[in-house]
Amino acid sequence: MLSCTVCSRKEAAYTRHYSGEKLCGRCFSKSIEAKVQTTISKYEMLEHDDKIVLAISGGKDSVTLLHILAKFERTFPQASLSAIIVDEGIRGYRDEAMMIAEGNCRRLGVEYRVVSFKSMYGLELDEIVKRIRQKEDGKLTPCSYCGVLRRKAINTAAREEGADKLATAHSLDDETQTMILNIIHGDPLRTARVKPALPVIHPKLVQRVKPLCEVLEREVAFYAYLKKIEFQSIACPYAGTALRSDVRDMLNRMEQKHPGTKYTIFRSMERIRPALEAVTKQEELQECKICGEPTLGEICRSCQMLNELHAF
Ligand code: SF4
Ligand code: ZN
Ligand code: ZN
Repeated sequence: MLSCTVCSRKEAAYTRHYSGEKLCGRCFSKSIEAKVQTTISKYEMLEHDDKIVLAISGGKDSVTLLHILAKFERTFPQASLSAIIVDEGIRGYRDEAMMIAEGNCRRLGVEYRVVSFKSMYGLELDEIVKRIRQKEDGKLTPCSYCGVLRRKAINTAAREEGADKLATAHSLDDETQTMILNIIHGDPLRTARVKPALPVIHPKLVQRVKPLCEVLEREVAFYAYLKKIEFQSIACPYAGTALRSDVRDMLNRMEQKHPGTKYTIFRSMERIRPALEAVTKQEELQECKICGEPTLGEICRSCQMLNELHAF
């Protein structure tokens, strides 16, 4: 029997290749919770009396973070945790995810609110995809629309809920993929804006924090498995088309061959970020002339997208 390198008593169930640790289930789970706690303190993500709103999709990362934050909340009676579930309108996929997300909230006693693309924007993602496929100019993928519209939906809903912090479940994998994608898109300065805790640059933007940003997706999955957390495991039907999938595969191959690669990329970007921030102009946001949400130009990206879609 290979015993756990932390407690030496139990059988190891997980090998952490980048550190060489072999951990039993209990020590592994404790290490993930400790890691999230360290990330929260290091980046000063949460205050003891924050009203935290977590955006959940029903996928493993967001549901796992829901469980971890609900556990933390019990030790901070002045803090409160609630959830926002976004229904983008993806038939055969999101309906199941929503049931799982709602079931987890109910089990944990976390209040939740559902916001749908249909009620906010008048269009479901399925309808948007139908329209963009008819147009066939091929510039934007379903994920481009989904990402922009979801970001706006969760910020608006979190603000309406009076949230101090808006937590999202971006993992170490998501963050490193975004960093590499920024380079591939020729926009490395954008990495200055990929941060564990984003600064508040407009009163209508709720501060976004990412407590899972230093945890590998693989370890989130193992934590969920150990804790018997129910999550949706089928992939979104629109997923495979994005460049992000190729970057994900590439990083996974690198991580397997050279354990620790994802951490190294994350840490490198952390070191580069102050220099990037020094040469990046502080963005001056104004309110969108159509919807009033904060934006760089006169019309926000989601209103531009919706205008084009309605004109199709
Ligand atoms: Fe939206 Fe793309 Fe994620 Fe599907 S894979 S939920 S379309 S961002
Ligand atoms: Zn152990
Ligand atoms: Zn707008």
